[in-house]
Amino acid sequence: MRKPYIAGNWKMNLDRKSGLALAQALREGVGDRTDHDMAVIPPYVYVPEIVRALEGSPIRVGAQDVCDQVSGAYTGEVSAAMLKDVGCDLVVVGHSERRHVYGESDGLTNEKLHRALEAGLEVILCVGETLEERQAKETESVVRRQTSTGLAGVSEADMARVTLAYEPVWAIGTGLTATPEQAAEVHGYLRGLVSGVFHEEVAENTRIQYGGSVKPDNIRELMAVGDVDGALVGGASLKPDSFLPIFDHAG
Ligand code: PEP
Repeated sequence: MRKPYIAGNWKMNLDRKSGLALAQALREGVGDRTDHDMAVIPPYVYVPEIVRALEGSPIRVGAQDVCDQVSGAYTGEVSAAMLKDVGCDLVVVGHSERRHVYGESDGLTNEKLHRALEAGLEVILCVGETLEERQAKETESVVRRQTSTGLAGVSEADMARVTLAYEPVWAIGTGLTATPEQAAEVHGYLRGLVSGVFHEEVAENTRIQYGGSVKPDNIRELMAVGDVDGALVGGASLKPDSFLPIFDHAG
C-alpha cells in the first residue's frame, strides 16, 4: 500500500516571513496526521529555519537541488551532507527547470541523486516530456531515458528512498494538466520500467507523483488513477488555502 505523498515546491518564491507563515499554517492544518505524507521544498536559504518551524510535525522539508560533488571548490553549490546537517529530509533532482533552463543532463541528475542517497537523504526524481516531444510521440522514450539513466546504479534497498515524479513540461505552471488518462498511461509505463530495472515488488512500493498545474479542483481525479500516488505541486503550494485542500483530497 503506497501512502499518498504531496510535496510543495516553492521554487524561487516567498520570503523569510511569508515562508514561515506558510509553514506555520501547514503545521496547524496537518496536525499529527500521518495517513498522507507532506513535504515542503523551500529555497536553500530558508531550509534551516523551515526545518525548525516544522520540528515535531510530520511535514518533511526538502531542498530543490543539490550538488553532484561531495565537497570542495564548487563555488555557489550546496552539498548533500550540508543539507542533511541542517535537518533537510529530501532533495528534488531533475526538475524540468533544472533540465531545460539550466541544461542539466540525465547523467548529472544521476550524480546528484547518488550524492543525496549517500548522505542519507530521500530523493524525488522528476521526469517528463516537452510539448514537442509529446507531439512527436516521444513521451515514452524520453521518460524511459530520464528514468533509466536517472536511476542507474541505485540499489534495490535505496529505492525505498526514491520517489518518481512525472511532470510533463507542458503542464508545469501553464494551467494545463494531463488528463487522468494521459497520467495513467505514463505512470503505468513508469511503474513497468521500475519493475524491469529492479523487480515487481520494488515497482509496487515506489511512489510516483504527478506534477503540472495540480490544484484543489483536479487532485481528486488525478489521485483516482491507480498509479498516481501523490503530487508535486508548484504554484498551488504557496498558499495554505490551496495546498491544504490538495493534501486533504489526496486520498
Ligand atoms: C513544479 O514546479 O514541479 C510544478 C508542478 O509546478 P506547477 O504546479 O506550478 O505547475
